[in-house]
Amino acid sequence: MVELKTWLQDQGLSVKDLANQLGAPRTTVEDWVYRGAMPSPGNAEKLHEFISSNCAHHWVIARANGPLSEGECQRCGETREFTNSAEPSSLWTTSHKAKTES
Ligand SMILES: [Zn+2]
Repeated sequence: MVELKTWLQDQGLSVKDLANQLGAPRTTVEDWVYRGAMPSPGNAEKLHEFISSNCAHHWVIARANGPLSEGECQRCGETREFTNSAEPSSLWTTSHKAKTES
């Protein structure tokens, strides 16, 4: 579960903004943010959708394991699979070559 307070700060949003976006009473949203209350299933779904579509995701990709890597957003905790299309070794070679030693 995302740390709502931190997430809102990261996005530059206030509790009021979130409440308006979800159409939920501000006091209810304050309970989630400041008192760690669990949203009702209906609100939890709306909240999750809001977070996934508004989060400026900061993906942290796990070590490559076959053609897919699992990434986790450091901000909202969403996970996603990423395709390892580029060869990591060729990327390394390119950047290594570009380095000039003088
Ligand atoms: Zn995210």
